[in-house]
Amino acid sequence: MEIISYLIYLVSSVLFIFGIKKLGSPKTARQGNMLASLGMFLAVVVTLLDHRVLTYEYIILGLIVGSAIGAVMAVKVQMTGMPQMVGLLNGFGGGASTLVALAEYYKELTHGLTFEMSTIITIILSILIGSITFTGSLIAFGKLQGIVTGKVVKYPGQNAINVILILAVIAAGIYIVMNPYNTELLLAVTAVSLVMGVLLVLPIGGADMPVAVSLLNSYSGIAASATGFVLSNNMLIIAGALVGASGIILTLIMCRGMNRSLMNVLLGGWDSAGSTAGAGAGTSPKGDVKSVDAEEAAMMFDSAQNVVIIPGYGMAVAQAQHAVRDLTNVLEKKGINVRFAIHPVAGRMPGHMNVLLAEAQVSYDKLFALEDINDDFNNVDIAFIVGANDVVNPAARHDQSSPIYGMPILNADYSKTVIINKRSMNAGYAGIDNELFFYPNALMYFGDAKDAITKLVNEIKQL
Ligand code: NDP
Repeated sequence: MEIISYLIYLVSSVLFIFGIKKLGSPKTARQGNMLASLGMFLAVVVTLLDHRVLTYEYIILGLIVGSAIGAVMAVKVQMTGMPQMVGLLNGFGGGASTLVALAEYYKELTHGLTFEMSTIITIILSILIGSITFTGSLIAFGKLQGIVTGKVVKYPGQNAINVILILAVIAAGIYIVMNPYNTELLLAVTAVSLVMGVLLVLPIGGADMPVAVSLLNSYSGIAASATGFVLSNNMLIIAGALVGASGIILTLIMCRGMNRSLMNVLLGGWDSAGSTAGAGAGTSPKGDVKSVDAEEAAMMFDSAQNVVIIPGYGMAVAQAQHAVRDLTNVLEKKGINVRFAIHPVAGRMPGHMNVLLAEAQVSYDKLFALEDINDDFNNVDIAFIVGANDVVNPAARHDQSSPIYGMPILNADYSKTVIINKRSMNAGYAGIDNELFFYPNALMYFGDAKDAITKLVNEIKQL
């Protein structure tokens, strides 16, 4: 039986790896998801058939309660609430690793077994990383949900306290490896790790929370991997390592897209969460702002040949992706070429825009990444910005005092005309004004994205 388990675990691991590979393109992402789910299903079934499982009552109870809560959460969560949901789930993963490691420790203790050095080391690592992930993710959830302040929280001696706690945990960990029966010290390490999760995430500004969530996701994978060593479960080791590695890669991609270093994010360098317009540094743009109504905008679209739509966070908030698809269809019927320019950090999570547009059945081949479309904006008649702000702010190119200086942006301002749909002149995530709105070729089209685009589509249809 054991050899069959190993073989099925191997098949599951291969399915995970192919699943992740297929997630790399929107075309194959669903298939990737199915493959990885199949891998997980096989792994769970084999684990449940393990001869070490003595009774199924608690497992079945856990399955029913967990699945029910998960299903309700998945159905109820709004697309815009996805980052905090992911944050919470990471936290549960970390918490589970801590509990499994503690259970394994007590099992060995009560059975009077002698701890092998490798086992006790992985138990400590599992507890340490799992606990930090658990409380860190709860704080991240709280910040994104607005329960905990989104501001960068700083207090005197912050770094010194963190360093002392880390050194204390390492010292205690080494002591426990040599004296594994010191239960009180192990519980103290658990408590300090839980506190560390809070202290490490609290200083990070709400604006950087999605990056922190991605990093915590990576931690939850590392914790699961450590738990895999504790339980001698190869499947958990591999799956955890995959989550750990992909989480850290995603974190770095997000940092690059925002032109931030990971250290800068972790140390809470950019206090922009929930901040008001202009809270960051940067020069305040001045000048006249021109606006158009639905009818005027419709006439401009009607005479265009080349249109690029730039979606941003506002499209997600307004759930305007279906209206945007209708606009695409109506323009294409008139023979107008419509493409989408997708910024890597548009919205509030990686792939946010791609997911929404896919949901609205916008064909993938119309979606262009920043590097594939940015040189073509000179040939564009209308760049239509739907609820995006920071990702098209030209200050990122030249204003060294701007908090987004150096972030790659979409060259919407190079098009002949830029029409910007948003509700007001308010700032976006970085809390800074956008000089693009004052450019001579820029026109504001004010209104909630869904309503405004629906009106626009109706006007275009009448022309
Ligand atoms: P922004 O947050 O810069 O701007 C969004 C704009 O949408 C706002 O200015 C707002 O203006 C407008 N808006 C809000 N609601 C509506 C509505 N109902 N209808 C129309 N417009 C609306 O978004 P971007 O997508 O341009 O940029 C993303 C930002 O998030 C970047 O700063 C990025 O660094 C950051 N970020 C992204 C992450 C990711 O993974 N994608 C992760 C972490 C951070 P108004 O209120 O006037 O309507």
